[in-house]
Order: sequence, then structure tokens, then C-alpha cells
Amino acid sequence: MRLRTKFSLFSSTLIIIVIAGVSIFLFIAEKRLLIKEMKEKQVTMVKGFGQVSKESLISKDQISLINYVRTIKEERGVVYLVLVDSQNKIMAHSDMSLLGSAIGDSVGLKAQEPYQDIITQMYRDTKNVEIADIALPIVISNERVATARIGFSQDVLNEIIKKILDQTRNRIFGVAGVALLFGLIGSFIMSQIMTRPIKKMVEGARQIGQGKLNTVINVKSKDELGELADDLNLMANQLKELDHMKQDFVSSVTHELRSPMTSIGMNLDLFIEGSYGPLNDEQKNTLRVMRDNASRLGRFINDLLDVAKLERGKMEISPVPMAVNSAIEGPMQLAKVQADAKKIALTAEIPEGISQVYIDSDRIQQVITNLLSNAVKFTPEGGKITIKIKDTSDSFIQVSVCDTGMGIPKDQIEKVFEKFEQVKGTREQIKGPKGTGLGLAIVKALVELHGGKIWAESELKKGSSFNFTLPKYKT
Ligand code: ADP
Repeated sequence: MRLRTKFSLFSSTLIIIVIAGVSIFLFIAEKRLLIKEMKEKQVTMVKGFGQVSKESLISKDQISLINYVRTIKEERGVVYLVLVDSQNKIMAHSDMSLLGSAIGDSVGLKAQEPYQDIITQMYRDTKNVEIADIALPIVISNERVATARIGFSQDVLNEIIKKILDQTRNRIFGVAGVALLFGLIGSFIMSQIMTRPIKKMVEGARQIGQGKLNTVINVKSKDELGELADDLNLMANQLKELDHMKQDFVSSVTHELRSPMTSIGMNLDLFIEGSYGPLNDEQKNTLRVMRDNASRLGRFINDLLDVAKLERGKMEISPVPMAVNSAIEGPMQLAKVQADAKKIALTAEIPEGISQVYIDSDRIQQVITNLLSNAVKFTPEGGKITIKIKDTSDSFIQVSVCDTGMGIPKDQIEKVFEKFEQVKGTREQIKGPKGTGLGLAIVKALVELHGGKIWAESELKKGSSFNFTLPKYKT
């Protein structure tokens, strides 16, 4: 899973947990507050009833008490109001027919304990309604003369609370939904911002790992990520310096080796030709092996020098307008000798009227020689090698060297163009010199110096085709 996905998932989960937690907390707090408010309202109502009852008892004014009882009875949730004297006889009741009766099961009301303070008693009435009966003693001149009681239906109360809580819940859902949406968008943007420098560093480190030591990782943040990017850049610079030192070393060593190697080769040729006196067959054969080894070493030295030049940007080409055929003929003749030895058919398919190209003939011959020599090396006896030329676009022609050889596994096709890369297991399969893995790296760099590109297509055990483009000459 990618870092950005992990980060987004983590922060989204955190946001969901926080929003859900806050929502649940708000809901519970709202519920508690609501119940508390309802209870306080009930107590206030009972206190108001007690006050009115007390004034009516003192002033002996029944009318205002009756009016008050009627008004309060209309309030939602109020089941009854009752004022009883010290003997529990009903002095006022929201049901006028019960006036004068004594409190007891007959009127569906339990007697209240003679507490001096306000008390609440829960019970179910004859209609099985759960009642919260709140009673307030009325004290006149230190004597408890009556008790004012209001019965509230718990079911109605619960219904009111439920309705309000439903609205609250919907509101919380709405707000939480919007917060969640913004939170998720925010977390996505944050994860993008946070992982961008990491992505840059991963890409940069990959490029450095691939040997592109000029890579600069552009992360400017003033935190650990910025420090890491600076360290990676420093590391790339040091690697570049080391690489330059290595290239300088290789260049000077190979330079020193080239002249003696050429002179060894030339002298061996003179020996073999008999210029220094007659030799027997055994001596000649030994000298031929020595000469072949010397020329292979010479080629390797030249390849190393070319690579060093290309990597330093010191390789220069001198392109001239020419027919592509002339760059193909020489390498074809060279390769024919090797191809004939392996009974490989070597042909070229060049359509009539193909455009002139603008190339450095020596360098492109080097490219074609290399590709042909690979094709011969990796194609078994009796195979076929074809050079095909195609006019593919306005600015380029395409040259393909196709063989019916061992092919290259898909996962290694790109790699063969890197320095010292050889397909695993091929060294064991070929007879003769095993190669060094430098050829295609040089070929690629030379093609790219001409502004062209190179790529390979291959199928295992069926063959490969190495294709490259060359610029057309524009008059
Ligand atoms: P070398 O031939 O010296 O090993 P190159 O850079 O020319 O080095 O080639 C690199 C590798 O690519 C070869 O070792 C071989 O594994 C693979 N290769 C190149 N050309 C072919 C081909 N025509 N068919 C199959 N494999 C090839």
C-alpha cells in the first residue's frame, strides 16, 4: 500500500473516530440536559401551584386556585393537579368531581408521606400510565396545612424528549456529515502535501540508484524531510566525484594500454605473416590465439575509452548527409564472415528511394557492427539475420537488426542497454568470447547523440529485433 493511501486512511479513520465520538458525546450531553430541564420545569410548576394554593388558603379565594389548576392542566404531560389537606382530603383537583374525596386507591392516588420538602414518587395509575407525582408541602405558620401535588405522565415526557432528541440527532448528523466531508477532503489534501516531498525523494533516490548522478532532489522544506533531501543530494554529488575519479582512472589506464596493445597486435600479425622468419604450424596457431586475444583486449580498451568519453559528454560526432546503404555495407561484409561460419543467412531489406540520412558514418557503422555482431553471437547455427530499413516519419528513418536467436526475457529488455548488463545465463550458452556488456550502452549513447532512439523487441527462443532511428537529411 502506498504511503499516501496509508496516510489518508489513517487520518480519515482518525477524523471519523473523533467526529463519531464528539457526536455521541454531544447527543448524550443534550439528552441529560433535556431531562434535567424538564425536571426543573416540573418542579417549578409544582412550586408555582404550591404558591398559588398557599395564597388561596390564606385569602380563602378558591376562584384563582381553580383558574390556575385549569390553566396548568392544559400543559402537556400534566395528568392531574391536586391539593389535599393534612388529612389527605382533596381540597382542589383538576377533576372537579373528586372534590371532597379522600386520597386513596378509590381516586387512583396514593397518600404522600408527610415530608417537609418537595418529593417525587413514581407509580402506575389505574390506566397503567407511569406517573411522576411531585408533592410540595404547604406550610402556614409552621404548620403543614396541605400538600400540592402534580402528576406528570412519564410516557408523554419520554415522547417529548424523544422528539427533541430526534431533531438534535438529525442536526448532529448534518453537522457531522459536513465536518466529515471537509475532514476527508482536508486529509486527502494533507496527505498529498505531506507525501509529495517523500515521493520526490523516492524518485530521486531511484534515479541516483540508476546511475543518474546529476539528479537534484528539489525538496525545500525546513524539516527532517528537507534534511534528508539535502543529504541525498550530497551523497549524489560525492558519488559523482567518485565516478569522475573512477572514469579518469579508467581513461588513463586504458590510454596507457592502447598503444602497447596495438603494437603487440601488429607485431603478432608480422610474426604470423612470416616477416620475422619462418614458423611451424603449431607456432603460428599459438600466435593466432595470442593475436585474437590481443585484438579482443584492444576492442575492450576502445569500448572503455568510448564509454568514458560518452559519460563525460566528450564524444563528438561529425554528421554529413549520406545514403544509409553506405553505412550498412561495411558492417554487413564484416558480419558476413562470422555469419557464414555459423551458416547464418544474412540479408538486408532496403526499399527503393529511401531518404538520405544526416549521420556520422564511422559512429553509425560502429552501431550496426555491434548489433550485427550480437545478432550473430546470440543466433544458433542455421538461423537468419535481416537488416530492415523503413521510412517511418517525416524526420527519421528506422533501422532494425532482426535475428532468429535465443531472445531476451521481457523483464531484461530495457536492462541490456545499461553498462555491463548481460542477460542472465547467456554467457554459458554461447561459444567463444563472452563479451563485456558494454556494446549496447555505447550503441544507445551513439544513437541518442544523433537525436535518434533505440529499443529492442524480443521473444524468448524466437529472436530479437534491435530498432533505432536516424535523422533524415533536410535540405
Ligand atoms: P555483450 O554482447 O558484450 O555481452 P552488449 O551490451 O552488446 O554486450 O549486450 C548486452 C547483452 O544483451 C548481451 O550479453 C546479451 O545478453 C543481450 N543481447 C544483446 N543482443 C542480443 C541478441 N541479438 N539476442 C539476444 N540477446 C542479446
